[in-house]
Amino acid sequence: MADSDPDCVFCSIASGAAGVPLVVDTAGVVAFRDVNPQAPIHVLVVPKAHYRDVSSLAAAEPAVLAELVAVGQQVADAEAGGAFRLVFNTGARAGQRVFHVHGHVLGGRFLGWPPG
Ligand code: 5GP
Ligand code: ZN
Repeated sequence: MADSDPDCVFCSIASGAAGVPLVVDTAGVVAFRDVNPQAPIHVLVVPKAHYRDVSSLAAAEPAVLAELVAVGQQVADAEAGGAFRLVFNTGARAGQRVFHVHGHVLGGRFLGWPPG
């Protein structure tokens, strides 16, 4: 893993260089709104350091993963009455398209199960 990847869109957003408004900014993570929301609340929470997926982050910096989850709860408390789904698509066959780990915080409507 590199701290930052010059070709990574989420590194650019996390550093502030992309000018995307940040919903939350803590020591280890940032949160920002998904450009293509799938629910009334759809916020992405990402570590400032570049890891390709949640397993890599968990192995290297478990405290930052815990921080990411806490920020997801913070967003849900502020915007969705505390209820949320936290999704980590991991691998292309599971729908991952951006290979900088991000938790999708989804809420603000009834979320069915099983997911698609
Ligand atoms: P994945 O499919 O990798 O789990 O999710 C990537 C998510 O990032 C998608 O929901 C997509 O809409 C979002 N996304 C991709 N590029 C950008 C961007 O430049 N800005 C924002 N705000 N969201 C993005
Ligand atoms: Zn990155």
